[in-house]
Amino acid sequence: MSAETAVKFVTPTPEKEIERVKKWINTEDYKEKNFARTSLVINPAHACQPLGAQMVATAFEGSLPFVHGSQGCASYFRSTFNRHYREPAAATCDAMTEDGAVFGGQNNLFEGLENAYALYKPKMMPVYTTCMPEVIGDDLTAFIRNAKQKGLIPEDLPTPYANTPSFNGTHIHGYDVMLKSILQDLTEGQSVEGKCTGKLNIIPGFDGNVGNLREYKRICDLMEIPYTMLADTSDVFDSGCDGEYKLYAGGTKLEDAAESINGKATVSLQKYASTQTMKWIESEFTGQKAVLPMPFGVKKTDELILKLAELFDKPVPEQLKKERALAVDAMTDAHQYLHGKKFAVFGDPDYVIGIVSFLLEMGARPWHVLVSRATKKIKKELDALLETSVYGEGCTAYINKDLWHMRSLLVTDPVDGMIGDTHGKWAARDAGIPLFRIGFPIIDRVNLHRTPVIGYQGAINMLTMIANKFLDIKDETCEDQWFEMMR
Ligand code: SF4
Repeated sequence: MSAETAVKFVTPTPEKEIERVKKWINTEDYKEKNFARTSLVINPAHACQPLGAQMVATAFEGSLPFVHGSQGCASYFRSTFNRHYREPAAATCDAMTEDGAVFGGQNNLFEGLENAYALYKPKMMPVYTTCMPEVIGDDLTAFIRNAKQKGLIPEDLPTPYANTPSFNGTHIHGYDVMLKSILQDLTEGQSVEGKCTGKLNIIPGFDGNVGNLREYKRICDLMEIPYTMLADTSDVFDSGCDGEYKLYAGGTKLEDAAESINGKATVSLQKYASTQTMKWIESEFTGQKAVLPMPFGVKKTDELILKLAELFDKPVPEQLKKERALAVDAMTDAHQYLHGKKFAVFGDPDYVIGIVSFLLEMGARPWHVLVSRATKKIKKELDALLETSVYGEGCTAYINKDLWHMRSLLVTDPVDGMIGDTHGKWAARDAGIPLFRIGFPIIDRVNLHRTPVIGYQGAINMLTMIANKFLDIKDETCEDQWFEMMR
């Protein structure tokens, strides 16, 4: 850097002081202070509510997500999806600014809805909020009713809406309330006594891995179970490149979603991202209902398949039995490379619970487990899970902590690897350990969102990624006499 462009600090920090602090932040003393922190979050392991709402709003056929609030927030949601999926993430926003904050956002909403409908002709426009209209108390019920009464959008255009204040929840809560609102809107008046579509409604929850969604669908196909996925992002966020941009590239068909109320069964695979939706479904939908853990590893995949077999009175297909045997074989082959290894795991509660369960199956130790913005119920569930295995002994689950807390844990009580999304890369780098990217968002590696981590195939994919990385590290760091052809 030349002398003219060099940054001149107002109060320069002596090199010696920088070195002292660098060492100090790796100490127990600093960790104690860090864990005493109450009014500041550093690198949280969650995103904001409307981002979750946008994921589900995108996942229906012809649906245009509509952000009521600030343009900057809308850009953040879109760019996060762009970066994770490396696909366009269509959504519109009514761009509230200072006048909206003072006088309310009704005029912005009117203009935004009218323009968006005229330009993009959506079949549905789910509306959700950023923090600003939530702070001033905008009344979405009245605003949307007024927009329809004024003829700005057609009366019969589905416009489900959800209040998604980020100061009170995370992306999984936004996902939940938006899904509930969309289903309430689309299923209104569709319930027919005695009618049964014979279909399974499958709720994947907030999952940035389209490979997982396709794996769920493949399992249903193998079991010959007709299904409706509520809601399906797979073709929206992973469409092929054929030279033609499609604004509405896929998603759950609106008529299928409307009919879901008469389904044979509804299964949610993310308890904590569908709490409100399932509570409502419990009282409104016909058919049986089940909330299952995400099928990470063999045991939890067995649970899903056996439940589906029971609900639909189907045998477990030979193909799935074969895949299970392959997974068990692959786990046995790779066991020695994971057994006893310590891991730090962070992310969404349903993901973390699944990953911890998988690690315990492999004889690995989920040493530091962290979920930010979590309830005591989640902590209790994690503690109980750790207690089920000898490999859970000495492991600790932390809730309402962030990735700066995690950094303190990694440098004072080291582990062999970390599992979570891209946000963990700073802590992993400081601790000198690999980060295994599982979760959302993954914005610094390619194609991981297409690689399933659930089901039998997902178990093989995960252990392959983890075991091979440890073997790479061994080859890269061992002394010459230990550099072996075979590992
Ligand atoms: S936390 Fe609130 S203000 Fe910040 S990006 Fe999310 S919605 Fe916008």
